[in-house]
Amino acid sequence: MVVVQTVKTYISFLLIIMFMFIAHSENVVHAKNNSYESKQSIYLTFDDGPNEYTKNILNLLKKENVKATFFVLGPNAASHKCLLNRIVNEGHTIGLHGMSHRAKEFYKKPQTAVKEMKEAQKIVKDITGITSTIVRTPYGSKPYMTASYRRAMKKAGFQMWDWNVDSEDWKKPQNKTKSIKIIEKNIQYNDRKNRASIILMHDQATNPKSLSAAIKKLKKQKRIFRTAADATHPFNYYNTWND
Ligand SMILES: [Zn+2]
Repeated sequence: MVVVQTVKTYISFLLIIMFMFIAHSENVVHAKNNSYESKQSIYLTFDDGPNEYTKNILNLLKKENVKATFFVLGPNAASHKCLLNRIVNEGHTIGLHGMSHRAKEFYKKPQTAVKEMKEAQKIVKDITGITSTIVRTPYGSKPYMTASYRRAMKKAGFQMWDWNVDSEDWKKPQNKTKSIKIIEKNIQYNDRKNRASIILMHDQATNPKSLSAAIKKLKKQKRIFRTAADATHPFNYYNTWND
């Protein structure tokens, strides 16, 4: 009886040690180089370009020495080759936003979504030599990107990005100052949640002065500007980092 009791105690002791070891290794894995998730991280993302407004955005980012991510549409990339190359040459990250930007076409089937991204990918590759696997689906991944769509996109080697701050710069009539205020308010919300801010903006007549003022403010707060290329895994509504 004493022997059985001793064996039981021994096994319990072993189990506790094993559990502690597993728990510890999981912590280590979780903490691995995920500074891109920290609330100090800011991801400026610009959708729907390149177009006539991209030049001003690039000038501003250059002046502030800040890098961003541009989710480009294939046809726009094809008709603004110089701007596309400028995005790359100035150290920004190119992501793909598909071809049609029409929900009915893009989300018709998982294969149509993948096909649009592959077409945009090829256009970007032919112009810049860069193969981008970073994508943002039109209007965001919810509710369209159901499991079969996500599987198809993953299988094709794409990493899907959404956002957690909508600048609402797409709303009409545009109010740029309001847009900057919305960004600031949402960053503060993310601060309280202790998470990075991924900001959705568009290549449009964004008031460079307002955006410049916002960037200056964020710099004072010692924020770190990152691009989608800096993260080891994407941020989307199905993979929300430390939400
Ligand atoms: Zn878009």
